[in-house]
Parts: sequence; structure tokens; C-alpha cells
Amino acid sequence: MSITKSDLHAALKKYFGFSKFKGLQEDVVESILSGKHTFVIMPTGGGKSLCYQLPALMQEGTAIVVSPLIALMKNQVDAIRGISNEEGVAHVLNSSLNKTEVKRVKEDIVNGATKLLYVAPESLTKEENVEFLRSVKISFMAIDEAHCISEWGHDFRPEYRNLRNIIGRIGDNIPIIGLTATATPKVQEDIIKNLGINDATTFKASFNRPNLYYEVRPKTKDADADIIRFVKQNEGKSGIVYCLSRKRVEELAQVLQVNGIKAVPYHAGLDAKSRSSYQDKFLMEDVDVVVATIAFGMGIDKPDVRFVIHHDIPKSIESYYQETGRAGRDGGEGHCLAFYAYKDIEKLEKFTSGKPVAEQEIGQALLQEVVAFAETSISRRKFILHYFGEEFDNETGEGGDMDDNVRYPKKKHEAKDDAKL
Ligand code: ADP
Ligand code: MG
Repeated sequence: MSITKSDLHAALKKYFGFSKFKGLQEDVVESILSGKHTFVIMPTGGGKSLCYQLPALMQEGTAIVVSPLIALMKNQVDAIRGISNEEGVAHVLNSSLNKTEVKRVKEDIVNGATKLLYVAPESLTKEENVEFLRSVKISFMAIDEAHCISEWGHDFRPEYRNLRNIIGRIGDNIPIIGLTATATPKVQEDIIKNLGINDATTFKASFNRPNLYYEVRPKTKDADADIIRFVKQNEGKSGIVYCLSRKRVEELAQVLQVNGIKAVPYHAGLDAKSRSSYQDKFLMEDVDVVVATIAFGMGIDKPDVRFVIHHDIPKSIESYYQETGRAGRDGGEGHCLAFYAYKDIEKLEKFTSGKPVAEQEIGQALLQEVVAFAETSISRRKFILHYFGEEFDNETGEGGDMDDNVRYPKKKHEAKDDAKL
């Protein structure tokens, strides 16, 4: 029985209440339903979850979803249970479950109630789980955050490397769906190779964020004063200021406060209570600015963040893109301002110095791209998109004039001098 477009729309409406697919979702869903290996590359917020959730709900059997974060899995399971009003439709299988709970999960799978089973890769290495999953009907296997497979990604997890092997043991012809927001060609190659899905149909959405304005300024001793000025010019707007170290976060948050700016610090060294209270204050707009390490942002969904400032340049273009991507989620203004000094690159190099040689080399290569980005005189947007394997024409592309190098072109000699900074 073939599924028509109107069946898909009906299912979208029924399960999610949406009347339209977003971007490439419909094509991805069709690909998955036809049983093909499928590779999905979409920016954060692009709607990747629905790409596998909808076909899972529409098909017989259970889809296994591998995801690296327990908190994210729980969120998704709750959301799915909410829409279908049936507890058994989605489960998490992990080591925190007791015997009774595991029994319940297995029963629901066996009797066909469970459409989505979320697992951490560690749980899949357990022999008893593999044995069990071999014995039931699996619709497909979705690997979310698939970049965790690659050492070139920003979040390498060795357990992800073993997935192909385990999938093979669970079943012979299980369709594999890889999903990621990492657009670099190197990471993509790694994913395809490691999952053994050369023949996958690939869907890649554009990573262009036309409403974001990109700007890089040289970092001088007066960087704090520059930041204060910028924030004051943007009074009442929400923004994030990223710093490398916890110490710098604390200091800068204080400096901003002393200057009459409603700011809070955020980093992993604060106790959980302060962290969640600061986060709430930001979401409720009791404060305007969060000064944070990269610990802040994962899963923060504030649509009207108007600026993201990098007090310290990040360790890769990937991180820069993810962090700046938290601005202007609603499509409104989003100013991305990074302060750059070469000595910060040297600091970042030191972080990798204790690591294995291969990791150091990767770290260096990623940093060289950051240097090139910071020092370039070509369009920042063009640079970023090129890094992600995407051609961009500033004349015709959306947001083509939205960066400092396009608005205020550097004269040739200036650009060269900057490079020596
Ligand atoms: P990603 O995993 O790609 O970062 P998510 O799957 O978390 O993105 O989805 C981001 C947001 O988009 C969610 O709030 C989701 O409900 C919403 N969304 C997804 N698909 C649609 C759609 N077809 N119509 C409207 N909203 C959608
Ligand atoms: Mg996601």
C-alpha cells in the first residue's frame, strides 16, 4: 500500500497538529517510509525530530532512536506521549530503569504499542538489549546528533563508533537514518562511512541565517568598554556574551552590573539552583544579558535574543555558528559580534596540548579556520557557508549585505595589515 501526500499531511496534522511541513521534512519522511537509508543535515531548530518521529508513528514496529543526552531523550518521550495520549508509544531504555520498568518497556515493544524507543549508545552495547531487540520488529534506526561519530565534530563520542556493528547484530536490513546539524563535509563523510550508508539519500538544508549580522572587531585592552557601549546602545534587548573561562564570566558579569546593565553570569561551576534561576531570569526578561561559558545555550529556546557577543573567539567555525545561531531565532534582528586577538588563538591551542596527537592536529586545523574567518576580508556569511560546503552569492543570496566586510569593505592594504595582528 503506497502512502500519498495527503496521507502524510493527514498524519502530520493528526500527530503533531501542524498543517505544513517545514523545509525538507516531507521529502525526508517519504524517504524513510520507503525504507531507504537516509541522511539529514539541517541546522538546529530545523525540525529534525519530526523527520523520524512521524514515520515511526506511521509504521509498524519500533523505531530505535539513538541520542547522546538523557535529558533530551526524556523531553522527546514526554512530548510524543503528550501528542498520542498513550504512555507506551514512546520509551527510553537506559541503565536507570529498574527491573519492573524494563519489563514494562519490553512488553510494550513486543505487543506493538511502542513506536519510538530512545536509547543511549551505551545501552546498546549491553548484550541483553541487543538480544532482545533482535527478537522484535524494528522499523528503522535513527541516529540523532550523528556528528558524535566524528572526531571532526564538536562532540565526539567514542560509543557512537560502535553503532554500525550493533545495528548489524540487531537486524540485516534495518534502514538507517543519520541526522545532524553539523554541515562540514569532513564530518558528513565520517558519518556516512561509519554508519556504512554510502547509498543513503541525503537531504541538506541551507545553513544560511539571513537575519543575522556578522561582525568581527579587533580585541583591544578596552574590550570590556566596547561591550558595555554595545549593550547600552541595545538597551532593553536580550543578549548573550560568551567568554572562554568561568573567571572571565564572573568578572565581566560584575563589570556590566556595576555599569548599570542587568546581567547575570552562567557557567558549569555555579550550583544548579543559581543556574536555573539565572536562566529563568533571562527567559522572563528580568535580566537582559547572560555572560556565559559555552555551558549556556544547549536547549535554550529564547526566540528574541538580539545579540550574541563573543568576548573570546570560539575554537571552531562550527561552535561559532552554533553559538551565534542562538540570536534571532524568531527571524528578527540578530547581531553577532566577535572580538578577535591572535593571542586568544594561542590560548585555545594550549587547551589541546595535553591531548592525543590526532586530536591536537584536528584542534589546530579547526583553529586555523577560525583565524582565517576572523582575518578575512571577504563576506563573513560567504565564508561560513563555504565552510559548510554551500555556495553563496552575496548579490542574489538572502542576507547578502549582512556582515561587516560587505557593508564596510576593507581596503586591500588594511586587510593585509589586519592579518598580521
Ligand atoms: P532540530 O532537532 O532540527 O534542532 P527540532 O526537531 O527540535 O529541531 O524542532 C524545532 C522546533 O520546530 C520544534 O519546536 C518543533 O515543534 C518545530 N517544528 C518542527 N516541525 C514543524 C512543522 N512542520 N511546523 C511547525 N513547527 C515545526
Ligand atoms: Mg534535534
